[in-house]
Amino acid sequence: MAKIFCVANQKGGVGKTTTTVNLAAGLAKVGQRVLMVDLDPQGNATMGSGVDKRAMQLSVYDVLLESASVAEAAIFSEKCGYHVLGANRELAGAEVELVEVERRERRLKQALAGVAEQYDFVLIDCPPSLSMLTLNGLCSAHGVIVPMQCEYFALEGLTDLVNTIKQVHANLNKDLQIIGLLRVMFDPRITLQQQVSDQLKAHFGDKVFDTVIPRNVRLAEAPSYGLPGVVFDPAARGSQAFIAFAEEMVERIRKM
Ligand code: ADP
Ligand code: MG
Repeated sequence: MAKIFCVANQKGGVGKTTTTVNLAAGLAKVGQRVLMVDLDPQGNATMGSGVDKRAMQLSVYDVLLESASVAEAAIFSEKCGYHVLGANRELAGAEVELVEVERRERRLKQALAGVAEQYDFVLIDCPPSLSMLTLNGLCSAHGVIVPMQCEYFALEGLTDLVNTIKQVHANLNKDLQIIGLLRVMFDPRITLQQQVSDQLKAHFGDKVFDTVIPRNVRLAEAPSYGLPGVVFDPAARGSQAFIAFAEEMVERIRKM
């Protein structure tokens, strides 16, 4: 049975997409069967996995509107070693179209049930908002991975997300929990980052992943080649950190 995780944070530019595609590639590298679901109409995770968002016949949009199954719409990325249920601008329309339909927040969950045996991990890249799309992600998931930069307002920004997750847990999805906070774009030379990192650990204890993702230019360059850093330059420090994170995730779900 696939374990399903949302990568979410309502802030933009915090490293959600980078985390999703590199964790997917890292998990594939250590032998896991992975489906990456792009729930952001920007389609960055799709493009960053070597799938051209403009050339897709079917996407997550068709799955949400129940005109295609996940098996029909998912594309295997040879280079990356995982399946991609892609997104493009069409998905922005789903937000409005879903308002009219029944079980609108459970569409993705039901669709993913059809492929639960085909994968070990499903990773969902969420858009930077607490929208109907993100809600579909949260309703589908066993857990949430929250990438965060160790900045001054990091803890405050977390409150909204934690409250949303609590509400979804109470009303829609009793399985849902925060699996962990992932410190990303970390620079240990910056004293403030070290301090915020220490605060996070004091506050959230073992909900903070052991692995820390450093700021690393190779991770930022990789998307322009349509690849996750882990595939583009496996030896880079950032890529090595994501492979370590994949191993940490495999270890965590063994205990779940
Ligand atoms: P989000 O999906 O939350 O909007 P992204 O993953 O797209 O965030 O990251 C925002 C920007 O930061 C991108 O340009 C990305 O390449 C860059 N980035 C993300 N993680 C790192 C990192 N560890 N080191 C350097 N650059 C990074
Ligand atoms: Mg993104």
